[in-house]
Amino acid sequence: MSTHDTHSFDAVVIGAGIAGATAAAHLAADRRVALVEAEESAGYHSTGRSAAIWILNYGPPSVIAMTGASRPFFENPPPGFADVPLMSRRGAMFLAPPDQLDAFGALMAEGNGLKDISPERARERVPALRPGYAVAAAIEEDAFDMDVAALHQGFLRQVRARDGVLALRSKAGRIERAGGAWQIEVSGGAVFSAPVLVNAAGAWGDVVGKIAGATPLGLQPKRRTGVIIDPAPWAPADWPMVNDVNHTWYIRPEARTKLMVSPADETPVDPQDIQPDELDIAIAIDSMQQALDIEVKRVEHSWAGLRSFVPDRNFALGWDAVAEGFFWAIGQGGYGIQTSPAAGQLVADLVAGRDPGDLKRILPKIDPRRFAAMPA
Ligand SMILES: Cc1cc2nc3c(=O)[nH]c(=O)nc-3n(C[C@H](O)[C@H](O)[C@H](O)COP(=O)(O)OP(=O)(O)OC[C@H]3O[C@@H](n4cnc5c(N)ncnc54)[C@H](O)[C@@H]3O)c2cc1C
Repeated sequence: MSTHDTHSFDAVVIGAGIAGATAAAHLAADRRVALVEAEESAGYHSTGRSAAIWILNYGPPSVIAMTGASRPFFENPPPGFADVPLMSRRGAMFLAPPDQLDAFGALMAEGNGLKDISPERARERVPALRPGYAVAAAIEEDAFDMDVAALHQGFLRQVRARDGVLALRSKAGRIERAGGAWQIEVSGGAVFSAPVLVNAAGAWGDVVGKIAGATPLGLQPKRRTGVIIDPAPWAPADWPMVNDVNHTWYIRPEARTKLMVSPADETPVDPQDIQPDELDIAIAIDSMQQALDIEVKRVEHSWAGLRSFVPDRNFALGWDAVAEGFFWAIGQGGYGIQTSPAAGQLVADLVAGRDPGDLKRILPKIDPRRFAAMPA
């Protein structure tokens, strides 16, 4: 590895999506941090492609704990963090067709802040709902839309304000440990050196792990599709986000007059700049139309993004089992934005060896070393 142009830091974070930005911002409170990003702009991959909704009743218990712990940040960010509110009230409605009644029962038994409502009441909230589609319904009133760009930019600003460095167009290509420090050579030739490396490379988490000689965790990126339609003559601005209990489709109002529709697809793919598939777009419209009486004249826009999971669908946040100073922050799946304030704080606490308070109880679930203990 070249030794010219070496920049020394206390920690280098790889990947400037929401996971890397929050981790870097929190670490920069008491460390010199470099945040290196392969793309020209931070947020080009999953972070810029989400549905931007915060829902408490979503994901395994460890995710629910981080989602809940993140809420105070959205309600009350630090002064000057963003020029606009990070949250706006939306609500999330869960609909049960007849074959999802058991799942509805399970949801209500475990649900946090979920209110059982009649199918008639559900139709008052979403008048396009077809009579007879749902035999039971519930609403999470506290769910909200997140301003993802404001959140992400706020954390990137914090990195800079705390003397951190954001290096764009800097793909980490060679990663080696020498003399008690990681040497990370990025495209362009600069070398970033630090005793601690935080791997927040999203879908590329295992790729980065392998380059560094850490044990891959079995990360699987999964494609998810979003479609924008005009539901006129319906006016959806005040509708909640709506999904079925088994989460096989969902909608959410977009820019007041439009609707985002998703088939909630999870197609396993390699890490890449993912594009939507025509079939998934058709499935999105079809699934939505089984529940909602909405005519679709044309698809105005469509996109796809990657939601990346380790095998048990909890996050992988913590030190590698073997590689010294290698910290994993991957596996954020479909919840990486709504959990990001708490996840960033947790990364900084664990790197510093601080007690993470309430979230201590989820550490066994998210510790990457849980995979090292499994038989091959
Ligand atoms: C359609 C869709 C809907 C979603 N809806 C929601 C939602 O409503 N709420 C929610 O909370 N979450 C949602 N998510 C999930 C959320 O978007 C992700 O969990 C989150 O964005 C993951 O952030 P990340 O920083 O880990 O990944 P990314 O944003 O992908 O960032 C990883 C970065 O690492 C960089 N990188 C990779 N390798 C290297 C390298 N070698 N060197 C330098 N840089 C590298 C990449 O360029 C990338 O910018 C959704 C996702 C999709 C696709």
